[in-house]
Amino acid sequence: TPDIKPLVAGNWKMNGTRDWLSEITTVAGSLDADLRETMDTLICPPATLIYLAAAAVQDTGLTIGAQDCHMAQSGAHTGDISAAMLADAAATHVIVGHSERRTDHGETSDTVKQKAEAVHEQGLIAIVCVGETKQERDEGRTLDVIKDQLAHSVPDNSTSANTVIAYEPVWAIGTGVTPTVSDVEEAHAFMRRLLEDRFAGEGALMKLLYGGSVKPSNASELMAVRNVDGALVGGASLKAADFLAICESY
Ligand code: PEP
Repeated sequence: TPDIKPLVAGNWKMNGTRDWLSEITTVAGSLDADLRETMDTLICPPATLIYLAAAAVQDTGLTIGAQDCHMAQSGAHTGDISAAMLADAAATHVIVGHSERRTDHGETSDTVKQKAEAVHEQGLIAIVCVGETKQERDEGRTLDVIKDQLAHSVPDNSTSANTVIAYEPVWAIGTGVTPTVSDVEEAHAFMRRLLEDRFAGEGALMKLLYGGSVKPSNASELMAVRNVDGALVGGASLKAADFLAICESY
């Protein structure tokens, strides 16, 4: 979208130990001035690596994010991590509502919204994920699901500065299968309309990422789709060379 700086974001999921930090520093060291000017780049490693990774990429253009947070900023929530802690660890973004969180941890859109609000309270950027399952698509409910998830997962105080939307069809995640270009175009145009209706000019400027089996070989085709302002990349973000190839395919 004109006037929107694209974002290529990597989601490492539950992968990576300290010996993987070289993948992150390789990406950071390879971002030339041209890339830094044309796009934002982000890698979301597991929480254990955020602080180290953020320290290692300072002032390179690459920033470091988190994959989830709790809706409260502190308290009796054993095992959870708050947005305040992620801000303290120098994360810039927090993914909320990833389909694996919705499925594995029963997160509802209302939970996701509260998490996004906690992210905003800390001055961080929430990457709110939405997307239909295979069954929902087969039943012709794709746009209804997107509409419902957007309406209930995205907080009212969202702006183009504090919120990024990621459309990730669940059946395209980690499967190697992607929607057609026209399916992506339809979903993203639909999201843009809904966000403009709700947030006016801010909705027009929110980054809309596509996610689901993005890899170097299909990135340029997917990123060229109207209203696609970048990618959320899982598997192909684990290797610096693949992640960089996706950035460069823009
Ligand atoms: C994801 O989980 O956000 C994702 C897009 O995964 P993959 O790229 O591996 O399909």
